[in-house]
Amino acid sequence: MEIFHISAECYPVAKVGGLADVVGALPKYQNNAGDKVRVVMPCYDTKFKKENDFECVYWGHVKLGDFNFPFNILKEKTDKLGFELYLVEIQELFDRKDVYGYQDDIERFLSFQIATLDWISGRSEVADVINCHDHHTGLIPFMMLYCHKYEKLRNIPSMITIHNGLYQGQFGFDKLYYLPEFDLAHVNVLEWDNCINSLAVAIKCAWAVTTVSPNYLNEINSSANGLESLFNLVRYKSRGILNGIDIEVWDPAKDAMLEKNYSIKNFEKGKQENKEKLCNLFNLDPTKPLFSFIGRLLEEKGGDLLPHAAALALSENYQQINILILGSGDKVIENQLNSLLQDYKGNYNTFIGYNEELAHLIYAGSDFLLMPSRVEPCGLNQMYSLRYGTIPIVRRTGGLRDTVIDFGDDGNGICHDQATVGDICYSIQRAVDLYDDKKHFNKIRKIGMSTDHSWERVCQEYIEMYKLIINKK
Ligand code: ADP
Repeated sequence: MEIFHISAECYPVAKVGGLADVVGALPKYQNNAGDKVRVVMPCYDTKFKKENDFECVYWGHVKLGDFNFPFNILKEKTDKLGFELYLVEIQELFDRKDVYGYQDDIERFLSFQIATLDWISGRSEVADVINCHDHHTGLIPFMMLYCHKYEKLRNIPSMITIHNGLYQGQFGFDKLYYLPEFDLAHVNVLEWDNCINSLAVAIKCAWAVTTVSPNYLNEINSSANGLESLFNLVRYKSRGILNGIDIEVWDPAKDAMLEKNYSIKNFEKGKQENKEKLCNLFNLDPTKPLFSFIGRLLEEKGGDLLPHAAALALSENYQQINILILGSGDKVIENQLNSLLQDYKGNYNTFIGYNEELAHLIYAGSDFLLMPSRVEPCGLNQMYSLRYGTIPIVRRTGGLRDTVIDFGDDGNGICHDQATVGDICYSIQRAVDLYDDKKHFNKIRKIGMSTDHSWERVCQEYIEMYKLIINKK
């Protein structure tokens, strides 16, 4: 089967969060399973772009209303990522350091989608299926169906995979003229809540909709930032497929970013050495349990609860626990977290920013990983932490509910139900007690390390979904 994945992120080319991890891994495993897989993404000014060789395989111009942007399609020469990687180079719009967060994001991602379709529709053989990811690629299923110049793509099945339904890529109808000419009889398809809503458009037009966990699919029927009724309507073509993890990149036995490699056979010693390295770096106490958080410091991740929960847990367990935070996001939360540094010196620290290497060391060297999320479509952190023998402490929501079971029910982690400071601190207290019972603690760590979340199994579910829509042709 020939598959195109179209995405704003892909690890290790450009990463902001879990979307990159998924699009960097799923295609590789699909390729290994015998499919022909290509990934298309924008060409940002990243280290990967600078350090690798590309050849130009196509060029053209994107017309966006009155603007005209020249573009090139660059192919990475060696296929070293395990699939064919294509970068859409539109210098004026993407030759920047960050992936998102610019005032012209609508123009940037719309141009990316148009350039991608211009190229794909010009190929002699297109593909069996086009898998779009999140709202940045949400207008593609619409354009394939209704834009005159993409008529050739009308019968190619498209699928939208939703990694996070909170972000929807809305913009006003004043920008309607950006779209290539299309059959105006279908203009109402673009509308949701008086805007053009890229994610809603994808949900309406794609032949299939997937979310990144089964439980998230259940939740968005009642809570989806305004799209609930739409999700209910398309239930017949939707499926929740739990994300996998790339067990080659995330392998404590081989991970080059760790201080000490280890496996399930010698994890106690291995983890302790990584913990000591972390504690040295951040002035923490290696003889006490270490609770960490990795992620975007936003309300959806429960980031606003962290400062108060950390202060309470640290004062209730004075000098008996460590807390380490890695992340960035809301400036108020960042400042609140930093304001605790003075009071809990020696047992608390933060790293405000993004650091891939440090994240790996934290998964390896921590005893517990905090995930007090309000919304978690799948969550990868808990799966990495399980694989590295670190016990996840999660709020039961989205994919966290699908992957973490409380140790009281013979599971692999610690769970609570409410996104509150009280629930987080109660779970931390249970974790402290578990830590003191070394035999039980090690048993739970081993259960986590032996959980199989590899893509090998999961990628078959994507293929099944593709086959379903191909058969509808
Ligand atoms: P998200 O909603 O952010 O996509 P996921 O759990 O799906 O959440 O994926 C998060 C990914 O981003 C993981 O690989 C995690 O290790 C990584 N990550 C998040 N924040 C940071 C950070 N500040 N530094 C390094 N890695 C980070």
